Amino acid sequence: MTKDKALTNKVRLQDAQALAEGYSPAIRAMEISAIVGFIGLEAFLAYRLSGSPHHGPWMLLSAVLLGYMAADFVSGFVHWMGDTWGSTDMPVLGKAFIRPFREHHVDEKAITRHDFVETNGNNCLVSLPVAAIAVALPMTSPGWVFMASFLGAMIFWVMATNQFHKWSHTDAPPAIIGFMQRVHLILPPAHHRIHHTAPFNKYYCITVGWLNRPLQMVHFFPTLERIITRVTGLLPRQDDIGAEAAQAIVEANVTTDAPVVQAARELLKATTEEAPPVPTRPST
Ligand SMILES: [Zn+2]
Ligand SMILES: [Zn+2]
Repeated sequence: MTKDKALTNKVRLQDAQALAEGYSPAIRAMEISAIVGFIGLEAFLAYRLSGSPHHGPWMLLSAVLLGYMAADFVSGFVHWMGDTWGSTDMPVLGKAFIRPFREHHVDEKAITRHDFVETNGNNCLVSLPVAAIAVALPMTSPGWVFMASFLGAMIFWVMATNQFHKWSHTDAPPAIIGFMQRVHLILPPAHHRIHHTAPFNKYYCITVGWLNRPLQMVHFFPTLERIITRVTGLLPRQDDIGAEAAQAIVEANVTTDAPVVQAARELLKATTEEAPPVPTRPST
């Protein structure tokens, strides 16, 4: 049995039905308010930006692109938090934020049955403080206008994240969406599949996934987990996949180097082994 298989067999999953039932009317009301607030603030921000003399097409394009990358990172970070720490039994946070992540591992098609509110409510809620900051920026110089455009674009993509994620689980998405997935302009299903392989401990970015490989190369999330475990004593993923599998992942992480460290080591070995002999000038 391979190491991965042995690890997969230890993964215990929570009850999908119980997780789905955790979606209460109070949570739904909170999500609807968040969506209304989010759209209002984004519209107000667009209005303020359109009246500013400091912005041009290049600034807008770079803000939108940088915002896209930042949203990809945020999606990975928040997803990692939801997958790795805390429990669905925690008050407020457990039901509103952690439950959807845990439900998604045991019933990955559930997201395709969620309506607009359930798909987008959470991300609108977490974006509200950022939207408030973006709207309040002074916009008196190109720097401020860029900052406001960047923040506005980032939260727009944060909101789009769950929609892109949902499409990556949809069997037959609209043709234009399928095309954007194939050219990797939004999250491609095959790429996201890597996250859905137990024990669900890599490729967390779900806006477009461009940052998944770089973060994996530097062992970004395993390193953070090691630091948090050292400081708090908490075991990552204990609530999601059970203590035995969670412990096995911690042990596997300790013995493997980050791919970038492995590559550097191999490169160093190759250059020291294959170094050509220093040519000597024939004596005359
Ligand atoms: Zn996940
Ligand atoms: Zn997914």
